[in-house]
This record gives sequence, structure tokens and C-alpha cells, in this order.
Amino acid sequence: MCVPSVPIGRFAPSPTGALHRGNLRTALASWLSVKARGGRWLLRIEDVDRHRCRREWAEQQVRDLAALGLESDGPVVWQSERDTQYLEALARLQEQRLLYVCQCSRKDLALMASAPQADDGLRPYPGRCRGRVPATLEPAALRFHLPPGEVAWLDRVHGPQRHDPCALTGDPLLHRRDGCFAYHLAVVVDDGLQGVTEIVRGDDLRPVTATQIRLQEALGFARPEYAHVALVHGDQGERLGKRSGAEGVQAWLAEGRSLADLLGHLGHSLGCLDRPEPCTAADLLKTFKWERVPEAGR
Ligand code: GLU
Repeated sequence: MCVPSVPIGRFAPSPTGALHRGNLRTALASWLSVKARGGRWLLRIEDVDRHRCRREWAEQQVRDLAALGLESDGPVVWQSERDTQYLEALARLQEQRLLYVCQCSRKDLALMASAPQADDGLRPYPGRCRGRVPATLEPAALRFHLPPGEVAWLDRVHGPQRHDPCALTGDPLLHRRDGCFAYHLAVVVDDGLQGVTEIVRGDDLRPVTATQIRLQEALGFARPEYAHVALVHGDQGERLGKRSGAEGVQAWLAEGRSLADLLGHLGHSLGCLDRPEPCTAADLLKTFKWERVPEAGR
């Protein structure tokens, strides 16, 4: 029997605070994109950084999304429970001699970050410790040795992209000295193992996509489709942060406004509605189209 393949999307928040309006907009876009084509939507809690993440925040995020009608098709995945999968992926990279132990201190890294690219918050690591290939996996800071060259990829919102990951992130850290697995490893392994076919996420992650594609290639995972949606800014032009819980579900309700109203605003900002009017997430399925999602947030 031939099982037809359906698109699989995901939303993967880090539980460092309540989801703000920008996160909710991204979550809704990822849900609409797969649901409009009969696909599955998975929720994954990116709590790999145990120092910054809190269980209560994750539970709040799951509740807020459910209140909007966005529920995971399948159990919610918690990265904090997936050490075995991450270790197995590190072992595969180590066998290919693509991992090395990084002994640079924070101070060394800060000095190296004076390159112009560091202005956008990225600090390309120049590969100073390359060559320190561990004989076995050790509990150390481990980096992935990026191959040279640009990566061409397509973004559904921004069109064709071409980036040199060595100039943007440099060799990414996959395992930290404090014992935590790092974001780039966890995200690539989980998207690969969960069979995710499309990644919809905030535009702040567009510059690290080429790095993640290189890691996917090394681990033998298929390349998903990508859509990076605009970040939403507050009234003063400030970037919204999860830590402030700005304009999230609870703040919205506390102002006496309804969830249908919030969905209307989000749907309007994603190009599904001509004007914000109360609706459900399911109502927006009829009019959602990537071509109508604006490049800039509103
Ligand atoms: N965990 C990231 C966040 O909360 C998203 C990572 C991703 O979607 O790749 O912004």
C-alpha cells in the first residue's frame, strides 16, 4: 500500500516566557500552512537550555496555543527528554571527523567577534580550534566543522537565498561545556527525526538557516521547505520579547478583548483578512496563501 505523504509543520518555542503577538503570528502561520493542505502540525518545546527555560512557561505556551485552536497532532515533544537522540547524532558526526573540541574562553570569543558581521548579533566563529578531533565523545564544548562554500536555498516569503554559513555563524557549537546540547543540534535532529517537511519561524533565524542545512546534510536528513515570517514590533518600534509577555494571550484577555478578536488581528496581519474581524483559526484556512503573507510585519 502506498501511504500518501502529507506536509508536516511544527512550531518550536523556547519556554523563556509567555508567547507574544509575534510568536503567536508565527505559530498561526505554521499551522495554517500545513492545515490548509491537510497536513499535520507538531508542537515541540525547545527547552534544551535548562538554565533559561522553565516548565511553567512551556505549559503556559501550550495552553495559550490551544486557546487559539492550535493543538499538536501527536504528543508534544520536549527537547529536555531527548539526550539519547542528540548523543547519537553527535556520535555520527564524530565518526565522520566533523566535530572538534573548542577550548576558546568567553573572552577569546568576544575578541574574535569584532568582525563587521557581529553587528547583526551573529558572531562567526573562525574555526580556531579546528583539528582537535576527539577520539571519543567527551563532555566538552563541541563544534561542527562546516564545509566551505555558499548554500543556496529558497524561502517562501523572501525568495531565493544564498548565504555562506562560515561568514555568518562560523562553526556552530553543538554541545556546550556546561553539558547542555546546543540549539543548532537539537533543532536539526528533531526536525529530521520528526519528518518535518516545512519550517515556519521568525525572520531572526533566516541567517542561521544555511548553517542548519549543512548540519542536515552531514546527518543525512532531507531538506525541508522554509518560510521566515517577519518579527512583530511594539508601538514604540521595539522588538517584542517573550520575557515581557508583551501582547500575549493573557495580556490581551486582561484588556477585556476576546480570543476571536486576537485571531482576527493575527489573520489580518498574515494577509488572510482585509480588516481585523473576529474569527476562529479554522475560518482563516479558507483564505491563507503564502503569496499574501507580507514580507514586513504589521
Ligand atoms: N526556539 C526558537 C524560538 O523560540 C525557534 C527555533 C526554530 O523554530 O527553529 O524562537
